[in-house]
Amino acid sequence: MAKLSPSSDATQPLAGSSTVEKPSRRSSGLRPWAILLVGTLSLTAVAILALAQDRKRNPTVKEDTRAQTADLAPAPIDPVRAYDYLKQICDLGPRPSGSEANTRQRNLVAAHFQKAGGVVKEQPFVAADPLSGQPVRMANLIGSWFPERTKRIVIGAHYDTRPFPDREFDPQDRKLPFLGANDGASGVALLMEMANHLAQSTTPWGVDLVLFDGEELVYDREGEYFLGSKEFARQYKQARRSKTAAYTYVAGIVLDMIGDRNLEIPKEPHSVQFAGRLVRELWTVAKRLGAKAFVDQRGPEVLDDHLPLNDVGIPTADLIDFSYTHWHRATDLPEQCSGESLAQVGRVVSAWLALPEPAAK
Ligand code: ZN
Repeated sequence: MAKLSPSSDATQPLAGSSTVEKPSRRSSGLRPWAILLVGTLSLTAVAILALAQDRKRNPTVKEDTRAQTADLAPAPIDPVRAYDYLKQICDLGPRPSGSEANTRQRNLVAAHFQKAGGVVKEQPFVAADPLSGQPVRMANLIGSWFPERTKRIVIGAHYDTRPFPDREFDPQDRKLPFLGANDGASGVALLMEMANHLAQSTTPWGVDLVLFDGEELVYDREGEYFLGSKEFARQYKQARRSKTAAYTYVAGIVLDMIGDRNLEIPKEPHSVQFAGRLVRELWTVAKRLGAKAFVDQRGPEVLDDHLPLNDVGIPTADLIDFSYTHWHRATDLPEQCSGESLAQVGRVVSAWLALPEPAAK
């Protein structure tokens, strides 16, 4: 996983939740235009109330209420199998960008996606190693379900691991291998389990499961974050510009550090800002499913793979639990994670995916 935003403040209320416009003190007494304005506003208020009443009587699938009213169809996510994927990935060893284990993981997931009915392609690119300057061959992996659908959802997770556990205090411990069970493997493991159910999903969307490379080929402070998601976003933007993209991403979800045994996912503020409707829908679905890991609170601002996607117009939410004591430490091991945590997130995301398409505006 990435890093905290420098301006992060978890204590602030959600945008718009507590701001009340103060009345202007500049004018004294009501002028004729003001009376007209007040009258017009009153009529508008009456009209809005009437519309709300009408909607109560005639419930239809509106984009802002579909998560509250639609039947929910979460996929039967298997927590034991999901946790087993996480262990299989960790068994490959440390998986930083450019390593052999990184390639082995990509091949393992590619074969799995294919077996589950996905159309798989790689998105290769090259970046410079931040220490040596030598080229590092990287690749995102994209598994597509319902490839003929032009309105698509992207669900991504980074699959590279931090080069070493740089948050260990003892210099000797910083030489230990970093396995990234939660920070790396958890998101990929859930994508693998979700893949098992996509062909049967009633989702109205095309779905792309994406493994991002180069999220954190960073040595302490040396290096650039989010290389894979930036490349993915760059290629999407280019294809849209040149009109070669025959599809549009209507939304995106990034899964990062979602395997913690004590999972708590607050609302990440950048996600609220750029993908507010998506966040509301996900938390509404979570509440209805009793997925208590989704906490209805503002969390810390996080810089992560969701930002490059939002930058190119894909409203994307980051599902992340940043309160993980083993973050960037050698102790980020499978025993700190649980299949139940993975499954909770998987049920919410799959149920959200299966919501009916919003009515056209
Ligand atoms: Zn990390």
